[in-house]
Amino acid sequence: MPTYQADAIVLRRLDYGEADRILTLLTREHGKLSAIARGARKSQARAGALDLFGRSRMMLAKGHNLDVVAQVERRGDARHISGDMQRTAYACLVAEVVDKVLEDRHPVDDVFDLVVETLDRLNLPSRSSRADACWFLMRILDLLGYQPQLQDCAGCGSASPSPSTGEGGGASENRIWFSPLLGGLLCPRCGGHDQAGSALSLTAVKVLRVMQAGDAALYDRLRLTPELLDGVERALEDQLEYHLDRHLKSLDFLRSVRG
Ligand SMILES: [Zn+2]
Repeated sequence: MPTYQADAIVLRRLDYGEADRILTLLTREHGKLSAIARGARKSQARAGALDLFGRSRMMLAKGHNLDVVAQVERRGDARHISGDMQRTAYACLVAEVVDKVLEDRHPVDDVFDLVVETLDRLNLPSRSSRADACWFLMRILDLLGYQPQLQDCAGCGSASPSPSTGEGGGASENRIWFSPLLGGLLCPRCGGHDQAGSALSLTAVKVLRVMQAGDAALYDRLRLTPELLDGVERALEDQLEYHLDRHLKSLDFLRSVRG
């Protein structure tokens, strides 16, 4: 059987038969592909090298239906992800998004690098997994060409939507409407026409702009409170689900883990 090498990350795995596993792999060289790891559940060493979200150098053999994992050499573990429910949930989100946006065997270097970087960060206990997952969402939107419009109004194009002055006061004060349908922020005049979406604080908008500019060092220094991340995350998730035209199941898992 002809063989080939690949740098691979395990995105999903499914028990198969007595001792095998079917893996969904993201590889740098060949994109996303499915492969079978024979005896993966019997050999401790092999199972470890094929951990979910782990990275390894593989030799694969062309098979009739599925290619076969012939050799595997671990390059990076994901033990802090697998040992933490919330980190696992964020990694599942990364895996689901990548699985949805990539076609089989169409390698995209930037997506592979982004997934490696994101999983490496999620595997660091000192980092905020939530902030890192938001960063991933903004970057993947950018790579897919779905970056939200955060400067001019996405409805009428008027310059830099300012917060609603909150006529009648209360909840609308200092908030800007974000519409996934129109693809970004809306001025107060356009905001009322579109029911779908969410209201963002001016601070959340500023955070989104830092992310969109790709300033990772500045983003790492921001003090991101849970309330702030609620808004940022919601806008990015809505934008992605709208463009993928489907609900991301891993978001339900994430919310159940977070309580
Ligand atoms: Zn407008």
